[in-house]
Amino acid sequence: MFTNKEKTIKIIEKSIEKSLVYSNEGEVASYIPELANVNPTDFALSIVYVDGQEYKFGDYNKIFSIQSISKVILLIMALNDNSINEVFEKVDTEPTKYKFNSLIPIDNIAANPFINAGAITISSLIKGKDLNEKFNRTFDKIKKLSNSDKISFLEEIYKSEMDTTDVNRSISYYLRSKKIFSLDAEEVLDLYIRNCSIGINSTDLAHIGALLANGGKDLESGVEIISKDSVRIVLSQMASCGMYEESGRFLLEVGIPSKSGVSGAILGVVPGKCGICVYSPKLDKSGNSVVGKNLLKILSNDLDLNIFV
Ligand code: GLN
Repeated sequence: MFTNKEKTIKIIEKSIEKSLVYSNEGEVASYIPELANVNPTDFALSIVYVDGQEYKFGDYNKIFSIQSISKVILLIMALNDNSINEVFEKVDTEPTKYKFNSLIPIDNIAANPFINAGAITISSLIKGKDLNEKFNRTFDKIKKLSNSDKISFLEEIYKSEMDTTDVNRSISYYLRSKKIFSLDAEEVLDLYIRNCSIGINSTDLAHIGALLANGGKDLESGVEIISKDSVRIVLSQMASCGMYEESGRFLLEVGIPSKSGVSGAILGVVPGKCGICVYSPKLDKSGNSVVGKNLLKILSNDLDLNIFV
C-alpha cells in the first residue's frame, strides 16, 4: 500500500521522531514483577499492509509478552467455538470507566471482552478436553494468524503473574459464583494468564492486524482465516473498548480500532489498509503505552489513517 514508498517512509520516520518526545513519560508495569525487568527504552514499530508490504523500525525482533492483546485472539477463538449469541449472553459489549482489572463492572455480566473480567469469561468459552488442549489451540491460532514460527511461551512471565494475580483470581471466582461459568475457576484463570504470557514481536502482531484489516483473508492466498462476522465484532470492540477507560478519548483523537497490553504494545487495525504494532514499555495511568498511543495519534494524522475522516 506504499503508493510512494520513499515519501511514506519519510513521513513515518518523522512521526517516530515526534512521538519519542514522550519517551520520558510513564512507568513500566511492575504489578507483575517480571514485567519490570524489561528495558524501558525499547522501541519498535511494525506496519504490515494488506498487500503484504512491511515497514519495520527499531526493536522489531524483540519478543515481549502479548498481555491484553491476547484478548483479541481469545475473542476470535470464542466466536469460532460458540455462536455469537452464546458469547454475548456471557459478556457484554460496552466500554467501562473502571480499570481493566476492576471487579466493579461485574454485575451479572462483565462489561466487555477486552477487560480482564470479560476475557476471563471468554476463556471459559474456549473448547478443549483439558487446560493444555485449550491453551495449545489458542497458541496454535496465534502462530497461524501471525504466520510465524517465532511465537513462544514466556514461562517466567507466566510464573510471575500466577504467583501475584490475586485480583484476577478474585475475578475468576466471582464470575463463577455468579454462575457466568461453571468450570474450575483456577483452570479458567490459568488459561487466561497463559495466554497473556505468550511471547511475540511487533511484526508478528502487526501481521495479525493486517489479516484483520484484510477482512480476515490471508494476505497472499485470499483464503478466509477469520470469519467476516468475527472481524466485524473484534474490530468494533477494539474501537469501543480496546484502550481500557481511555477508549472513547483514543477513538476521538486517533480513529483507529486498537488494543493495548501492559507490556507496552498497542495493535492498531486500519480496515482495508494495514495492521500497526507499536512497542514501548512505559505506560500511562490507564496502562496504555505513552509513546505508543502518541505515535498512533501522529501516524493517524500524518498518514491519513483515521477511519472516520
Ligand atoms: N496479564 C495482565 C493482567 O491480567 C494483562 C492486563 C493488560 O495487559 N492490561 O493483569
